[in-house]
Amino acid sequence: MLDLKLLVLLLAAIAIGWWLGRLESRRHARHQHRSSPLSRDYFVGLNYLLNEQPDRAIETFVQALEVNSDTIETHIALGNLFRSRGEADRAVKIHQNLLARPSLTALQSDQVQLELSRDFLHLGLLDRAERLLLGLLRASPDSARLKPAKLLLVDLYEREREWAKALEVAQPQLIHEEADIRRAAAHWLCELAQQDRHTASPALARKRLRQALSIDDRCVRANWLIAELEREAGNYKAEIRTLQRLARQDHDFTPIVLEPLRDAYLKLEDEKGLVRCLNQWVSEAPHISTVIMLARLTEQHEGINAAANVISNQLAATPSLRGVDYLMDLYIAEAGPEQQHFSLLKRHTGKLLESRPRFRCHRCGFEGAHLHWQCPRCRSWGVTKPITGLEGE
Ligand SMILES: [Zn+2]
Repeated sequence: MLDLKLLVLLLAAIAIGWWLGRLESRRHARHQHRSSPLSRDYFVGLNYLLNEQPDRAIETFVQALEVNSDTIETHIALGNLFRSRGEADRAVKIHQNLLARPSLTALQSDQVQLELSRDFLHLGLLDRAERLLLGLLRASPDSARLKPAKLLLVDLYEREREWAKALEVAQPQLIHEEADIRRAAAHWLCELAQQDRHTASPALARKRLRQALSIDDRCVRANWLIAELEREAGNYKAEIRTLQRLARQDHDFTPIVLEPLRDAYLKLEDEKGLVRCLNQWVSEAPHISTVIMLARLTEQHEGINAAANVISNQLAATPSLRGVDYLMDLYIAEAGPEQQHFSLLKRHTGKLLESRPRFRCHRCGFEGAHLHWQCPRCRSWGVTKPITGLEGE
């Protein structure tokens, strides 16, 4: 029975057959030749394929398809087809075979080297991919058509966590032209700042973070790290200002900012300031986590009923599982003999909340319990956010 791999090969065979047919009809038109060794090779290859001998089939097809300016694209496409099927080692053979031809134009040679780099990347041969790409870029560093080579090299340095090298390649063209690279570059600077913070100096880390914000003013992580540096230095007022800036950058991050914000205000013994800030945030974006923090403060000063009122009003406007869970805490604290009913319900909401992911990638939908600045599935930077609303926070 033909499996999927063979089916792909068969499709490739049909594509090659079509090419050969085209070449043949041209030759016939030009020279009126009758027989053709190419078509014989093609049918030999097809025979190998049908006998489930894909390796010999590929060799025959590659031999059958004479390399010339008409068939170069087909050879490249055949290699790419194998790579996309997870057979990058075969793609390497085909692309290397092409590269050995002296008849390639400079443009074609660049194209084949680019595909060969992709094959190497696919196989995890990062050193070989890097050498090829650097050679390509060195030959014509400012050429616009080498943008794909720059993008590949950036991808390679990202995999190796070589943030400074990635920045060097991306500056200035890719950062200027590609929104994804711009967002990523701000994160590379954050990665470098993290390293400097421990190995060099906080001052250098701050410089990197300011640079990150100048590249991408929506980079929440840069403000998150600046806030950490301020906290470490004991500058709580500056930490609060930075966290407020962060919440303004993206309201969705409010839930993770609340705890450090509260701690900083309490270090300054300024609870009134905290309440003022929370009230303002609730009026701008009524996240249940903010309302719960306000209700807890109300509970301390005005009692359980006042806190229950704060939460109930909010739940009437926007339902939330975490809000219901907190409301039950309040009822349990106040209830007498009926307490066990609430406790039972609370166990259910507790389990529901535990099973919910806290963060979601807005690019690929990956969900998890931790905030990844780079999504582990789709590798996009800065697109994972806290889940807010009904089941979130
Ligand atoms: Zn993702």
